[in-house]
Amino acid sequence: NKVDINQLLDQCILKLKATADQKGHVFIKRYHDYQVNANLDGDKIEQLLLNIMSNAIKYSDAKSEIVVDLREGHTETFFDIVITDNGIGIPETDLNRIFERFYRVDKARSRELGGTGLGLSIAKEIVESHGGLIHIDSEYGFGTKVTISLPFDRKNV
Ligand code: ATP
Ligand code: MG
Repeated sequence: NKVDINQLLDQCILKLKATADQKGHVFIKRYHDYQVNANLDGDKIEQLLLNIMSNAIKYSDAKSEIVVDLREGHTETFFDIVITDNGIGIPETDLNRIFERFYRVDKARSRELGGTGLGLSIAKEIVESHGGLIHIDSEYGFGTKVTISLPFDRKNV
């Protein structure tokens, strides 16, 4: 089924607004000059985006900006969603394990913040089941950038 990705991004940001407001975070939307309609499982893509966006909220100190960007992908058949925060970042030594189930950086702090350590593993599963890719760049102490590359068409949706 066709999904309006711009509208879906708006919807996700709206769903997280109360949580973001509580910490004084603002979402910066940079996806209004590129329009995407894609044949995807909308519910799954929403879950994936909520997982990534809520991490950005959770792992940023108060009053941060979270940038949500939609742009052309690496080939004509892909589009990219890029979510960037200026949060606590992920140490390089943890980066390659971050998609494992239950894996969390700094167990004490993670326990404090709540959660199970499943968000990213679910996100990766959803992206890959659509034939897409997810990549995380991060600098400890400075912030994190999550790039999600998805194809416009998944045949059997
Ligand atoms: P859950 O998502 O199940 O509520 P969680 O957020 O701990 O729990 P994941 O979303 O899988 O689990 O993330 C795994 C770990 O990666 C987190 O515990 C955190 O240490 C780190 N992490 C994820 N996203 C970010 C981010 N944007 N900035 C800094 N660290 C992050
Ligand atoms: Mg999470």
